[in-house]
Amino acid sequence: MCGIVGVIKRKANNVAKDLYFGLLAIQHRGQDASGMLVCGERKCYLKKGNGLVTSLFNEELMFQLPGYMGIGHVRYPTIGLGKEEEAQPFFIKEMGVGLAHNGNLLNYFQLREQLVSKGVKFLSSSDGELLLQLFIVNYGGDPFEAAKKVMEVARGAFSIVMCIKDKGLMAIRDRFGFKPLVLGEKDGDYMVTSESVALDILQYRLVRDVKPGEAILITPEGEIIARQLYPAIPRYCIFEYVYFARPDSIINGIPVYKARYRLGVNLAKEVEKRGIKPDVVIPVPDTARTAAFAISEYLGVPYKEGLIKNRYIGRTFIMPRDEKRMERVKVKLNPVRYEIEGKKILLVDDSIVRGNTSRAIIQLVRQVNPTAVYFASTAPPLKYPCYYGIDMQTRREFIAKDKSVDEIRKVIGADVLVYQTLDGLVEGVDSGATFCTACFNGDYPIPPREEEIECIERQRLDVGR
Ligand code: SF4
Repeated sequence: MCGIVGVIKRKANNVAKDLYFGLLAIQHRGQDASGMLVCGERKCYLKKGNGLVTSLFNEELMFQLPGYMGIGHVRYPTIGLGKEEEAQPFFIKEMGVGLAHNGNLLNYFQLREQLVSKGVKFLSSSDGELLLQLFIVNYGGDPFEAAKKVMEVARGAFSIVMCIKDKGLMAIRDRFGFKPLVLGEKDGDYMVTSESVALDILQYRLVRDVKPGEAILITPEGEIIARQLYPAIPRYCIFEYVYFARPDSIINGIPVYKARYRLGVNLAKEVEKRGIKPDVVIPVPDTARTAAFAISEYLGVPYKEGLIKNRYIGRTFIMPRDEKRMERVKVKLNPVRYEIEGKKILLVDDSIVRGNTSRAIIQLVRQVNPTAVYFASTAPPLKYPCYYGIDMQTRREFIAKDKSVDEIRKVIGADVLVYQTLDGLVEGVDSGATFCTACFNGDYPIPPREEEIECIERQRLDVGR
């Protein structure tokens, strides 16, 4: 999971400021590395490295950088080792072409071998660099032709923003549209980004989503050229609505807040079926808040903030290493004794991946003596790896892979465990859209080949060592 931003302006030379604030708005999509490429008439400036946007960029200096077009990136590493040189954007100075992307390629290793055999030299193991090189070797002056070739040979998820010298800002989305990508406009200037929240804070108007299979070129004169390069087969990542996206974003035309609220209502129906009568509903902050609020309303049970989060600790799920995740849970959450002690509490979380985070949270609340701890997950059991850009790419990671709901309940230490159903998830997010639900049911829009799975799993295990 990563976040991307691209900005192009007709008259002003100050895109750096918009990129900076845009990246800040989507920092939740990746805290590992940040980067920006700012292009002026004569010169481009690239700065990137490991760290948060605020730690990497000096606001005052950044705002003085002249540029009418630029792209930015916040990273969570999905493939590669999380090294400094893998931070995005990537830029080929001689060509004047830069790229930032969100997603993951299944055939990364095969494509890399092919490009290396053609003499391409790689400086990192990032699929962003590979996409850029793939574009460049197919670029003869028409960016749509090159984009079409990228779409033809790259198997996987990719939402891309590019700066192309003398051409403008380009946005490309794979034909399944796994990762969100929205287009915004303000007084003839344009922004393309992962989530509409970045548009909101800078007063850009949400125009529309970049369609799956589409490429859009915005010229320095403000002309928009949009081409459907391949027929769209929409399979939007449903996990965006469960966890990744900010609730104040609208992606794929669906407001994330509304989706999370409906997920809460559907989960409340499951809780009701189990005959559980909690005294309070408590969200695991922050993602589960909206769903917990909906459950509380539906069941007529008070909503309480029984777990307080240290806001200076990052999202546990997007910490790369497992040990780090465990450490962080302990220092991240603290129970509010008087909301929990002597009560039957319903804890609501967005999902259960490995179970270790849920177990740690339940241990934490048991220290302040509730009479019962019920646990509800707004997502169904996660069972299958994601090969499209989320840090759950090996088959060993999921507690639900080979355990029943009751076995999981015992492992995490809950008195009752309630999961969302898959129908409840899809209907709750939007019954009219088509989604990727592969991590829940193994129905992969792009089925991974065995050799691709082996390459990815080997890579992940190497990273974990
Ligand atoms: S497998 Fe799951 S996390 Fe990955 S793209 Fe599909 S729905 Fe999203």
